[in-house]
Amino acid sequence: MKRVLAVVGSMLAGTYLLAQPRFAWPDGRRAAITLTYDDAIPVSDLDVAIPQLDKAGLKGTFFLMGKAMRPEDAPRWQAAAAAGHELGNHTVNHPCLRGTFDMPVQYNSESYSVDVLLNEIRTMNTLLTALDGRKEHAFATPCGQTTAGGQDYIAPLIASGLATSIRDATTMPAAVGGPKVLGEAFVGTSGADMIAWVRKVEDSGGLGVVVFHGVGGDYLSVSAEAHQELLAYLAAHRDRIWTTTYSEALKRATEPAK
Ligand SMILES: [Zn+2]
Repeated sequence: MKRVLAVVGSMLAGTYLLAQPRFAWPDGRRAAITLTYDDAIPVSDLDVAIPQLDKAGLKGTFFLMGKAMRPEDAPRWQAAAAAGHELGNHTVNHPCLRGTFDMPVQYNSESYSVDVLLNEIRTMNTLLTALDGRKEHAFATPCGQTTAGGQDYIAPLIASGLATSIRDATTMPAAVGGPKVLGEAFVGTSGADMIAWVRKVEDSGGLGVVVFHGVGGDYLSVSAEAHQELLAYLAAHRDRIWTTTYSEALKRATEPAK
């Protein structure tokens, strides 16, 4: 578990952007926040996070991992997408380097090739399209790692056109996102501490990318109450904080200034 936490911590130094960002947020808002939820954890996402987001009138981005998805939940994911939440690609099998956490060796990224991984990402995109009707999807690197069979796959992934944007820290050059893209994984964090972090993003005028796993249970979790406090703050300050999906924030940050 300690190792998993270290990985999550290190994946959050920032975000990989495909173009130079600009930070002029809609309607003169000071900052943007995007709430992302990894691994398609059924209870945390579908029973806790999405109902809380819906109540607050906020949209989240769910980086789904195919193998965690239960067939009976397909209609709920479809409904979430129809309600404006974003479904993103987090592969089918979530390959990570040996030793990152306990997993069968055939699923470790050392056992993959770039080609096998890209095929898996393409397959996951097809599943996402069946759920949300969209042709384009964002991608989040499993475990914040970027290799398959020992080769870095980020450049081939960009070249493949399979990902419109990539959430990953390890490959983000400072020059791309710069200090104005702040990433944070909240694990066991109180509502007050999450709000304090959002205030830092507001002061920077930039984009804050939040990564959640469990919400109100499961693993690497924050409590449902803390999550609710954060959402209440974001909803109460929507005049100055633009809380939006990952792809919308990235699109806005990278579109040419008018
Ligand atoms: Zn993950």
